[in-house]
Amino acid sequence: MSLVVVGSMAFDAIETPFGKSDKIIGGAGTYIAWSASNFCKPIKQISVVGGDFPQEQLDALTARGVDLEGVQIKKDEKTFFWSGRYHMDMNTRDTLVTELNVLENFQPIVPDSYQDCEFLMLGNLHPAVQKSVIQQLKNRPKLIAMDTMNFWMEIAMDDLKDLISMVDLLMVNDSEARELSGEYSLVKAAKKIMVMGPEYLVIKKGEHGALLFHKQHVFFAPALPLEEVFDPTGAGDTFAGGFIGHLAKTKDISFENMKTAIIMGSAMASFCVEKFGTQRLTEITKADIDARLEEFVQLVNFGIALV
Ligand code: AMP
Repeated sequence: MSLVVVGSMAFDAIETPFGKSDKIIGGAGTYIAWSASNFCKPIKQISVVGGDFPQEQLDALTARGVDLEGVQIKKDEKTFFWSGRYHMDMNTRDTLVTELNVLENFQPIVPDSYQDCEFLMLGNLHPAVQKSVIQQLKNRPKLIAMDTMNFWMEIAMDDLKDLISMVDLLMVNDSEARELSGEYSLVKAAKKIMVMGPEYLVIKKGEHGALLFHKQHVFFAPALPLEEVFDPTGAGDTFAGGFIGHLAKTKDISFENMKTAIIMGSAMASFCVEKFGTQRLTEITKADIDARLEEFVQLVNFGIALV
């Protein structure tokens, strides 16, 4: 039984008010894999890269317990490239460049060894590509979760809505939830989105935490207040990796356990933003994660005497 992760593997170039990166390793699938590998192994990865993607980066993921049989390497093509610039608040950003390159004609192939998939995390990619992975699985996973972004809402809304109707859990950020539902209130947006199909909805609010919706229930977890946020890129995907990694490890998809998964995701995301790209995720240990979880417990631990 395993966790299958689908998502872009990329080169990113990031600009923040405090610094600028060269072309660095990024991609939704990359962040999810690094993050989830702290919770369960193997992670079975599905993606595509060009011949320019560094072999040592693939080796580092393999060493981390990420199975790359489902990652296609198109030797004569270029890896997906994305560039973004953050505003002063670091919560909002503009996409400067999206070069699809190998993603343009990507047709994922699910290896036979991935057919034991119990948890499926569909990271950011064209919704038709995400759907093709579901269709290739002979047995429906116990939980299908998906992430997406405004880019696909703008160019592939019909495909996106079709896919959303097939999944158990959708993860989006607050502006994407508003765009998808046409509602400003996130509570109204959540109700409308759950009618589209998913039983569970996670709305990520950057430094303002994350909301989990299920039927009439709502759970909220704050983000850890950090002294410095260096680069928020990939924080959402890192959150997704911690969330699904915890569920896959515990094999428990109850709402109660999803609350814990939200905290795991938030803790992982708090590391991601501390350095550019995936750098910080490659350094952290179990002891670092445990210490951060303890900080979360302290952050929200309060008692009120009702009089
Ligand atoms: P996040 O900051 O969690 O929203 O994710 C940022 C990552 O998403 C970056 O590393 C990008 O390479 C990747 N990304 C950006 N645009 C797209 C897209 N249209 N499709 C797939 N991945 C993307």
